[in-house]
Amino acid sequence: MKTGTLVLGRFSIGIGDRFGLEGRAQLRALKKAQDKGVEVTPVWNKSNREHTLIGTEPSTTRVAAANAVKAEGWTRPFFVDADHIGLKTVDRFVEACDFFTLDVADFIGKAAPDNEIDQFVKAITPHTGTLRHPLLDGELKVSVEELRTFAKKYLYALQEAGKTYVHIKKNKGEGNFITEVSVDEAYDPQTPSELYLFLAGLAHLGIAAQTVAPKFSGKFLKGIDYVGNVAAFAKEFKEDVAVVSIAMEKFALPKELKLSVHSGSDKFSLYPHIHSILKQTGGGVHLKTAGTTWLEEVIGLAADKNTLPIAKKIYALAFDRFEELRKPYETVVEIEQGKLPKPSSVAQWSSDQFVGALKHDQGSKTLDRNFRQLVHIAFPVASEMGDEYRNALISARASIEQNVTYNLYTRHIEPLFVGK
Ligand SMILES: [Zn+2]
Repeated sequence: MKTGTLVLGRFSIGIGDRFGLEGRAQLRALKKAQDKGVEVTPVWNKSNREHTLIGTEPSTTRVAAANAVKAEGWTRPFFVDADHIGLKTVDRFVEACDFFTLDVADFIGKAAPDNEIDQFVKAITPHTGTLRHPLLDGELKVSVEELRTFAKKYLYALQEAGKTYVHIKKNKGEGNFITEVSVDEAYDPQTPSELYLFLAGLAHLGIAAQTVAPKFSGKFLKGIDYVGNVAAFAKEFKEDVAVVSIAMEKFALPKELKLSVHSGSDKFSLYPHIHSILKQTGGGVHLKTAGTTWLEEVIGLAADKNTLPIAKKIYALAFDRFEELRKPYETVVEIEQGKLPKPSSVAQWSSDQFVGALKHDQGSKTLDRNFRQLVHIAFPVASEMGDEYRNALISARASIEQNVTYNLYTRHIEPLFVGK
């Protein structure tokens, strides 16, 4: 299979910049990694959901990224990701983006026609049997029976990815974009056998994916650390890396293929485990973070007494619109509404109190995870504030940019890609 001219590279990071002002500060974090001899490719991602919520278009993401790249003299590759799109939503992104995350989670469990299931099973059967890899404890057995169950559950979703892929290819030309296929918003995590068969399916349908985003076990809530069994995740991640490596040997898939972790940001407890597996194998990863750059903006505003009232106003407005803001994110936030601080108390907070409740350092004693998650999904409120918010961002520029660079490098890039 043609792997295309665009290549993502071993390490890449999905970064978000909701208001398009932080690209330079983000690139400075990537330059710090470069100084340590580690190349990490930036991918600015903004989902269809996010564009719709704040009324922006993908072209604005492209312009902000290109301007930041120019201003910082970034000469290495960068990409703009149409994050979590499907056949119905892709067109808005085709021109501005060169990275497409084909999200087919909603199609899992829908049945493909019986004859197509039969054909698929027949085509993939030679690849069933016992799989061996140094990273697997023992071996992985994939039976024809498992293949049939998989086909009933996943073939329709794979076909949907295929249609979207062909549509993009027709519009952009083969090799002119990076493809990711995501099933991370599925109901159940995929087992290593399912991931293996999913990769076999991608190859079978001619989808030249460079990254695949499975659903891992545990909870990946927005902006807070992993909720789940870290040792179990580490085992699962290792098995998935093994499966990707086996699949690349066996199937016609791009040689750059790697896992993509849709982290929802701040999965600090997982980073050392992922880092050590990648170090051990020489494998790569794409890490999607995204939303915490916006939180660093709010932290920057709160830290300055002149702009602290703006941060408090965002919280007060979000508190009153809890249900509406939570709705689009209901599967990825867990906020105990009754435990949220009242806006009347927050109004009395000092800068230090506000920043302490919001800032997420690993092991922080002052972090309020309910408060942080609500602010995380409060960006439509800031967007509606228009110039009031934007002007505040500009006036607190220096401290915000420092926060953004620090957050991205010290909390994410260093532990995951560089190693502490
Ligand atoms: Zn995702």
